[in-house]
Amino acid sequence: MKNRREFLSDALKVAAGISAASVIQSPASAIAKSLFAESAELNATGFEFSQVKLPYSYAALEPYIDAATMEIHYTKHHSAYVKNVNEAIKSENLNYSNAVQFFENASKISAKARNNGGGAWNHNMFWQVMHPAASSAPGKNLSDALSKQFGSFENFREQFTQAAMGRFGSGWAWLVKDTSGNLKIGSTPNQDNPLMDVSEFRGTPLLCLDVWEHAYYLKYQNKRNDYINAWWKLVNWNEVTSRYNS
Ligand code: MN
Repeated sequence: MKNRREFLSDALKVAAGISAASVIQSPASAIAKSLFAESAELNATGFEFSQVKLPYSYAALEPYIDAATMEIHYTKHHSAYVKNVNEAIKSENLNYSNAVQFFENASKISAKARNNGGGAWNHNMFWQVMHPAASSAPGKNLSDALSKQFGSFENFREQFTQAAMGRFGSGWAWLVKDTSGNLKIGSTPNQDNPLMDVSEFRGTPLLCLDVWEHAYYLKYQNKRNDYINAWWKLVNWNEVTSRYNS
């Protein structure tokens, strides 16, 4: 049932010779809209990001990373990055065939696509390079390479920790393999990663650490160093080794 106001409004439109529908959407804009929807649909058949299933429960990394932090991090922060980058892919008609190609073109896409694409991908990797505590060690190839590059495993760990501590504000620490197969440690700001053409630090990521405050603040507050020291107990060396060997 139309109320009196709607009835009067329709009556006025009829009197003016226009239908209610044409006021809402002129035929020209309806056509433009449907063309746009169609092209977005076509491009949407290409690559988009998805959120990996968490390979363990929210509580599995306790006591080093608490369940509440994990749940908020995965269901709020990470899922928002995935949703937002896929929105950007549609609205900007981005048509890349995979994440590597997407990041190699980071200089050509919007801040929304770059930031959320990085957020989507980096966290998918982050969940996979962790596992419940103390159940793996670097494989022989990787272990030898770490010693060769950094002098010892302890030196590697110290340098990576320094990269994570030294990242001002929000960002990530990384261990990467460069194009010559050498291992390098570095960090990136915000949600950038070493696959991005805009990144000063480039390479194939083997290990990553999220040093955004949302990754540790509930349990560790401002003590980033305590979070990093605890996080070392969670590194999934099987996963890092298989990334190094591939
Ligand atoms: Mn995060």
